[in-house]
Amino acid sequence: MRRLNIDLVLIIAVVSGALARMPASAQPTPAAGQNLPFEKLVVPTTLAWSVLPPSIDPVMGTDGRIHLAYEMLFTNTVKLLFPNTTNSAVRVDSVEVVDPAHDNKIVGINHVFGPKNEDLTAQFYSLAKPSTCLCADDYSHKLGPGESAVMYFDVTFKDFSSVPGEIAHRVSTSAAVTDKKPGPAAEEPRIVENPIPPRIVAIGGAVKIETTRAITLSPPLRGDGWVDGNGCCAIVGAHRFTIIPGSGSLYTPQRFAIDFLRIDAQGRAWVGKVTNVTDWRGFGAEVRSAARGRVVSAVDGYSDNIPGEEPKNITPANIAGNHVIVDLGNGTFALYAHLKKGSVIPERGEFVSRGQLLGFVGNSGNSGAPHLHFEIMAGPSSLEVNGLPFVFDKMQYQGAVTGAWQQFLDDLFAGRPVQVDSARSGMRMGQMPLTLDVMSYM
Ligand SMILES: [Zn+2]
Repeated sequence: MRRLNIDLVLIIAVVSGALARMPASAQPTPAAGQNLPFEKLVVPTTLAWSVLPPSIDPVMGTDGRIHLAYEMLFTNTVKLLFPNTTNSAVRVDSVEVVDPAHDNKIVGINHVFGPKNEDLTAQFYSLAKPSTCLCADDYSHKLGPGESAVMYFDVTFKDFSSVPGEIAHRVSTSAAVTDKKPGPAAEEPRIVENPIPPRIVAIGGAVKIETTRAITLSPPLRGDGWVDGNGCCAIVGAHRFTIIPGSGSLYTPQRFAIDFLRIDAQGRAWVGKVTNVTDWRGFGAEVRSAARGRVVSAVDGYSDNIPGEEPKNITPANIAGNHVIVDLGNGTFALYAHLKKGSVIPERGEFVSRGQLLGFVGNSGNSGAPHLHFEIMAGPSSLEVNGLPFVFDKMQYQGAVTGAWQQFLDDLFAGRPVQVDSARSGMRMGQMPLTLDVMSYM
């Protein structure tokens, strides 16, 4: 044990020494092959950060921009630098997305928003604090000692040619709270009064961008008024928000998933009684296979929930309700979830063609209103899997619901007509609907 302690002290001494010599703003990571002294290669940071997905899949949205949607995990590492200083919070001042192959120049435009259009860019969603609303109250620029947090990104580019092959993240931090009180007595005093430098800038969290394009599908629905009520990319809603810890890893199955809800020409999702499932415009609409493939899961028998009521007794087994999963080949699977009870047509093992009828839109499983939950996954499970982006071969873009995402949901259940901005309407090919888009499919 004694030997271990000595080694630890040595490491701390080296790192602390490096901190003392470090300028307020540390040098960027030198290019590979440059022969620099050891200490210049080390930038001790009070945060550690890494990108959650192993690589990032770019996709073109209906705004005509290429989206890199992903998440990063941050941890406050102050204790590793200063073992007796455990109550030092760190503040993130900025996070820039850079291209390591081109002198770490800033690339793309990163913006994410909350349910009420709050700007959540470069803010932490803490894994240590209780969350209340998924809104701005659940996010902050500060990370407490030992605390981990998720940060959401939607970095956009004007075209595929301007997307780099790799990106990294230049993170600027400062000491949010200074620990003035020394920790418990150490064997040897090695704590300075104000250990965290006023500002640390370092580059890390490099990740490769995939060069393969998103899979092209046919829309799984027909007709007009289909709102992407919950999808990608800039709005961190219920899908983008979801990170699932499973078998010791973190998964983001719904990063690109879409909840399709249908509105009528007046912008209403239901007419009559909100709790009558058949009064919802989307209920009972045909769901068709978006591509050819083999059915690996076909589940039916779950009742349709009463709209507007919280679904009860939801488990990992029944979360998708009545559903079909189709193996599209090349490690991609399509999920059609929350289908109407008794409507699932194909059987497990059956091959389905593009456009083949699979069932009808319902409200089963973890669903509070009739809609189709559609996603492309890198495995046959809807939970322990990463979601993949997709584009539709052809669709009519009707416009986008105006106002914030939360307002849309409130209006939807209240039966109030939603407003659609149709200024950019027109035929679209090879694009992915974004949250609040309204589409017509033929
Ligand atoms: Zn969904």
